[in-house]
Amino acid sequence: MRARSLPVSVPDCIFCRIVKREAPASIVYEDETTLAFLDIRPMITGHTLVIPKSHAAYLEDLSKDSSGPILETARKVAAALRRSGLPCEAVNLWLANGKAAGQEVFHVHFHVLPRFGGDGFGIRAGRGYGRTPERTELDGTAEKIRRALEDQ
Ligand code: 5GP
Ligand code: ZN
Repeated sequence: MRARSLPVSVPDCIFCRIVKREAPASIVYEDETTLAFLDIRPMITGHTLVIPKSHAAYLEDLSKDSSGPILETARKVAAALRRSGLPCEAVNLWLANGKAAGQEVFHVHFHVLPRFGGDGFGIRAGRGYGRTPERTELDGTAEKIRRALEDQ
């Protein structure tokens, strides 16, 4: 049997403190490797955060073994939100990976956001949206990403 490793934690990380029950949180789900709890400043009622129990600042810091479980927990929470009786006709998953992407807490987390018609949410597209690049440009971009993937 494989030994169970304890979650890696960082003392001044608020989400690690929640994992260790050193800070309060309204927890909705927990298993061996993941935790789901309500966002302290919800964008909408039921706004839930899903984290790995082991500290990792960015998505790419997660090991192969710990990236899958956070998506599985987000899937469970999304299904539960639809059944919860809270206004929820649909769900958005959101993950800010890095400061420029809006990340404020540097312990990787999915936001699970209940959605319904007229909820007032919107995504503002960035500069450059709206054009259809030539295939050669798309292929050049894809090549850069493929090469970077080969280095992993
Ligand atoms: P980010 O911008 O990093 O994607 O999102 C961080 C989220 O964590 C924010 O929505 C913020 O409201 C939430 N948050 C920050 N501090 C705490 C806390 O102490 N407890 C909980 N439950 N959520 C927090
Ligand atoms: Zn942490």
